[in-house]
Amino acid sequence: MDLGLQRKVAMVAAASKGIGLACAQALAAEGCGISICARHEETLEEAAALIGEETRTYVVDVSDKDDLAWWVESTRNDLGEVDILVTNTGGPPAGSVWDMTDEQWQNGVDSTLMNVVRLVKSVQESMRQREWGRIVHITSYVAKEPSLLLPISSTLRAGIMALTKVQARELAPYGITVNGILPGNTMTDRQTHLAEIKAGKEGTSLDEALKAIAANHPMKRMATPQEIGAVVAFLCSQQAAFLSGQSICVDGSASGGL
Ligand code: NAD
Repeated sequence: MDLGLQRKVAMVAAASKGIGLACAQALAAEGCGISICARHEETLEEAAALIGEETRTYVVDVSDKDDLAWWVESTRNDLGEVDILVTNTGGPPAGSVWDMTDEQWQNGVDSTLMNVVRLVKSVQESMRQREWGRIVHITSYVAKEPSLLLPISSTLRAGIMALTKVQARELAPYGITVNGILPGNTMTDRQTHLAEIKAGKEGTSLDEALKAIAANHPMKRMATPQEIGAVVAFLCSQQAAFLSGQSICVDGSASGGL
């Protein structure tokens, strides 16, 4: 299916690895011009080699307001007005709610929530003027099924579900859609990190912890980042023009709630 995205300009945040990288690859395969950011030049260059020659890379910390403003402005100058925005970030720290410090909560707000507020604010005006836009927030299934291991992520991602609805309804009259993708267990560095914590707690090896996570999943495996990227690309398509304000679990039916 042709998603109708040839020559659209797409910004994908935190995209040097994992799910962000897979989203950028999926949008590049549809003919988008791609702008990615992450904190390290070297990993960005490695990612660009996997996405395509034309990929623009920007060293940005998504928790930093000035970095975000610079990224949006630079993308406009280098590629043109932004048609597609995929927000993403590294996952907040894992651990018991009693162990999380005020500083970790504040860092979580800055890196997980405020980048979504700031980036959408920066791109929406020009999307409105051109009466077309696609915005997708990568969050987590813990927004719908809070995790005792991920209190900061669970809390802030539930908030982003509400923010997604607010942004979607504000922007609906202008042909702009806003949705959240809530991945389940996906085989990335983040998942390996979480499996390491599980292994440490349970006195098993990393390999055993990863196998146990897969074995406990209804599909008996984890998602690949590409399976998340494919859904994000569809949400950005012309065909998905009437799909907005939704927070969609891509978790292989792992979460039990309605
Ligand atoms: P990952 O660790 O594989 O990749 C994270 C990416 O974010 C990397 O490119 C890293 O460089 C970049 N990054 C981290 N902090 C950044 C910052 N402050 N500024 C700019 N770039 C930054 O992680 P992933 O598995 O791809 O996870 C992406 C998002 O999806 C996370 O928010 C995570 O919580 C969420 N998620 C992941 C899973 C999973 O199983 N992998 C499940 C649910 C939700």
